[in-house]
Amino acid sequence: MKAGVVKEAAPEERRVAVVPDGVGKLRSAGFEVLVERGAGERAWLGDAAYADAGATIVSGAELYADADVILTVTRPTADVVETLRTGQALIGMLAPLTDPGLAAALAARGVTAISLDRMPRTLTRTQPMDALSSQANVAGYKAALVAATEFGRFFPLLITAAGTARPAKVLVLGTGVAGLQAIGTARRLGAVVTGYDVRPASRTEVESLGATFLELTAGVSAAGEGGYARELTAEERQAQQDELAGHISRHDVLITTAQVPGRRPPLLVTEDAIKAMTAGSVVVDMGASPLGGNVAGSRPGETIVTGNGITIIGADNLPSSMPTAASNAYSRNISSLLEYMTSDGALTIDLSDEIQAGVVITHDGQVVHRGVADLLAAEQKGGTGVDRPAD
Ligand code: NAD
Repeated sequence: MKAGVVKEAAPEERRVAVVPDGVGKLRSAGFEVLVERGAGERAWLGDAAYADAGATIVSGAELYADADVILTVTRPTADVVETLRTGQALIGMLAPLTDPGLAAALAARGVTAISLDRMPRTLTRTQPMDALSSQANVAGYKAALVAATEFGRFFPLLITAAGTARPAKVLVLGTGVAGLQAIGTARRLGAVVTGYDVRPASRTEVESLGATFLELTAGVSAAGEGGYARELTAEERQAQQDELAGHISRHDVLITTAQVPGRRPPLLVTEDAIKAMTAGSVVVDMGASPLGGNVAGSRPGETIVTGNGITIIGADNLPSSMPTAASNAYSRNISSLLEYMTSDGALTIDLSDEIQAGVVITHDGQVVHRGVADLLAAEQKGGTGVDRPAD
């Protein structure tokens, strides 16, 4: 079996699915490894390092023609999908719940699509394969650094001959993997940090990092399935936004990470809340998406400064801005998954396995993932099935 590591198509995507260190792991699992020329160069991982690790450097056309298993970070373009053939496997973060049309197209071409972002995450044995967590860790760390860089004052308390600088007050909304890493990083920089989440269980994690947990009197508690949050009702959302606004205006830096799987990111910070912030405050919205993010007015990939002097950063792909760390971690996730799903050098698909039932999206010409199949069925009946970006 040949595994092929692609050069990501999007020019702004700097990660690569497998790093040179990962080539040996794939070879031990029985794969011959092909790497598309220049695949790692945006993460400072040159072709020579891949060749030294035992990979064969090939063109994109050769890779898509020859590879049995294609390894990618993000979704393939429509043009690439057209070149795939029956029996090939595609492994990446394919976001099938936000783009079920891609799953349908891959099924139609007879491709076995495996999506790391559907990994069941509460099982201890899936931790080495958990790409959402590995990338969220990178993103949360970088979010705190981006905020500190953009902020016009110090994060720590500084006492110098020229006077005392009071520490920055940082508020992190959404304290899952990314939020906790942002809290830890902001704390290491010396800021006074507060964290907020709708999952009550996150309180102890926030406090264990030396931050304060913000509890709303509105008492919105929304723990959903599998450790995730559920979507709030319209009334709950309104109460949350209203009460959060008062807290937001008392902070210098705001980092938002809130997500609900398969839904558009919840709006936590309204235009009025932004208007009430002090000039010079910085907002990093990790939920920024084409249909809006956690913060009113944020735009993915853009930094805007509002009329009242608030910098809003639409940080939609922070892992790509730390491409070597993010690729190293993702590469380990991919090789762990391949080790798990490979037997005698061949990919073994077993949908009765709890982990495979989560990650295998299409197989044998069918969309086999229940959630994605349900979405496609809802679309055929005329509904959208999910409140998702239009991409
Ligand atoms: P996520 O990216 O889906 O969401 C980020 C955070 O936003 C979550 O903490 C969520 O509760 C919060 N959120 C959603 N809606 C919100 C709202 N309206 N207001 C405020 N906050 C809101 O989450 P994640 O980082 O992927 O983590 C999800 C859960 O999975 C966490 O409980 C995490 O600890 C857990 N997890 C467990 C394991 C494991 O057991 N091995 C591994 C990874 C993650």
